Amino acid sequence: MSRDPRYDILFEPVRIGPVTARNRFYQVPHCTGIGWTQPETLARLRGIKAEGGWAVVATEETEIHPSADCEPFHEGRLWDDRDIPALAMTADAIHEHGALAAIEIMHHGGSVANWGTRLAPMAPSHRPIIYNYPVQARAMDKQDIRDLRRWHRDAALRSKKAGFDIVYIYATHDLSIAQQFLERRKNDRTDEYGGSLENRARLLRELIEDTKEAVGDTCAVAVRFCADELMGDAGLTHDGEARDVIGMLAELPDLWDVNISNWPNDSQTSRFAKEGFQEEYTRFVKQLTTKPVVGVGRFTSPDTMVSQIKRGVLDFIGAARPSIADPFLPKKIEEGRIDDIRECIGCNICVSSDYTSTNLRCTQNPTMGEEWRRGWHPEIIPPKKSDGSVLVVGAGPAGLEAALAAARRGFEVHLAEATSELGGRVTRESKLPGLAEWARVRDWRVDQLERMDNVSIYRDSALEAEHVLEFGARHVAIATGSVWRRDGVGRDSGFPIFDGPLVYTPDDIMSGRDPEGGPVIIWDDDHYYMGGVIAELCRYAGHEVVLVTTAATVSAWTVNTLEALPIAKRMARMGVEVVPYTSVSGFEGGSATLTSVLTGETTDRPAAALVTVTGRLPIDGLFEDLRDRWAEAGIASVTRIGDCWAPSTIQQAVYSGHKWARELDEAPEILIPRELPMIESGRLKMTE
Ligand code: ADP
Ligand code: SF4
Repeated sequence: MSRDPRYDILFEPVRIGPVTARNRFYQVPHCTGIGWTQPETLARLRGIKAEGGWAVVATEETEIHPSADCEPFHEGRLWDDRDIPALAMTADAIHEHGALAAIEIMHHGGSVANWGTRLAPMAPSHRPIIYNYPVQARAMDKQDIRDLRRWHRDAALRSKKAGFDIVYIYATHDLSIAQQFLERRKNDRTDEYGGSLENRARLLRELIEDTKEAVGDTCAVAVRFCADELMGDAGLTHDGEARDVIGMLAELPDLWDVNISNWPNDSQTSRFAKEGFQEEYTRFVKQLTTKPVVGVGRFTSPDTMVSQIKRGVLDFIGAARPSIADPFLPKKIEEGRIDDIRECIGCNICVSSDYTSTNLRCTQNPTMGEEWRRGWHPEIIPPKKSDGSVLVVGAGPAGLEAALAAARRGFEVHLAEATSELGGRVTRESKLPGLAEWARVRDWRVDQLERMDNVSIYRDSALEAEHVLEFGARHVAIATGSVWRRDGVGRDSGFPIFDGPLVYTPDDIMSGRDPEGGPVIIWDDDHYYMGGVIAELCRYAGHEVVLVTTAATVSAWTVNTLEALPIAKRMARMGVEVVPYTSVSGFEGGSATLTSVLTGETTDRPAAALVTVTGRLPIDGLFEDLRDRWAEAGIASVTRIGDCWAPSTIQQAVYSGHKWARELDEAPEILIPRELPMIESGRLKMTE
């Protein structure tokens, strides 16, 4: 297939100072939860993006000094020359595929606790640090500012040595020191670095000038800048001070990389923002500068991308999440394979990796983060090593991915689904308020499967053990999913306490059973998104809704997907009453008993219905029926995957299906590959 000429504009080279990008696809800096801890893992991950056609591939934020220590978050590290080889590995991996390597060096000033290095954080003025640590940053004196400039310059020189083509100055996300100097609310200095906007912008200007002077002969100098903080006059705004700063410094850097600050505003989920949502805040930038501008907006549609360029909003299509969900997005557009693009669903499971300091993962792309560890490639999968067909039972996320990966390996694949609709839980959940884009998990896989001639899909086919035994498949995956419990067993209670016609589960609500009357009590002992979206749905249906949770906030785990505050706001604005630190300990006859986890006191509240969002049980009856019988029937393996094995996130179900297909004719994995820490003394004690 060849490229649609409408998309030619996306493949024009663009000059960035002394370097040239081969096209307009730009993987902006993004965190991985990996950072300095696993250099091989990171290099391979970034190299795959370059292979997928991105013209620029950037690192995550990279600390320039021990006083910029982000622990417990794992970010990049360029404290001294010893860090150069690890970063050079990333730059080399990017260059191997013809892309430009960018590095986002940074000092986070008053937003990091220096929890690891135990140094006192520094900021423009005395302030508690931004994250919730019991730590204050001390106000920097002139020597501190001189030191900071020197560290930044040294880090730029090291970046050049490591082979990077683009070096960043970071001034957004409410994280970096240059932004902190700009913000009136954080800077009450009375010297030439405080007061007027020109003074507050002095450090940013100096960092740009220093970097250009140090490395600008061969490296482009980029500024990642906050176009708006979405807090009105208390912060930088696109029609106020952010605009004025870009006006002042317009031609100084070689590239402007602009977004809305802070990170939760920048990486909003699809529940809260749609493709291109940053345009109203960032479109002014190109009017003020002749330098190329990159911006983000969870772009996955080539038509939207073309429109951004043609309307003069952006010069580069920036992407973090779309490049995670599909590292080969540019290549697919280039080759005219638009339908093959695996679009990001905007769930922010990737973000949770950074928040939990664990390797990057993605709901749509099961290979993400496994490029080095397991040698997984997003587009290439080893051909099958054995004969025989494969039967996958259940077409939820796990079953669809298992079928697709097995089919791509060359197996003859049969996929049986009990209902008339494919997609399992994503089909059900994508009908919940705000989650429509999650259907992309199903749609991309079904579309791929339907185009393969070694795949047969059977709808309305609820298989029983006899069917499986007689089918004649060599390998069977049981992907029959899970069911929400009604009885209330979960984190809070280990005992079944609820039953009766007025007790509903999320499955009931999703299948259209609407409680009668109100109030509806939602007992959220799950703490992820489900309690909150069910509350929204019941509220839209006109019920009075009370959400009870043992956590301190609604949907508490979504702090890791940057959604905790937006969800809490939405609940408040919709009139959902949230009762924190409380469990539901009884429900009978139109009344629920609530128990405070703080005082142990119980209160009764009227309740027309109770929705229990507590735990799930695998639907593994089919597996149990097959357990002692399949070997005799000549089947080589029967394996539970996804929620049928252990109920978890959709991401985990997709991963589980993919892993099964990759490994189904491989020797079992004995040791999980991992990068081992270097032991400086050279003494390595063997324990085995
Ligand atoms: P997962 O997240 O693990 O993929 P889901 O619950 O999303 O799990 O999907 C399970 C799918 O399996 C559902 O679409 C369900 O209808 C289907 N299913 C359950 N039992 C059977 C069965 N015996 N035969 C065929 N399909 C089944
Ligand atoms: Fe997109 Fe979700 Fe993947 Fe992140 S985890 S890239 S938000 S699909």
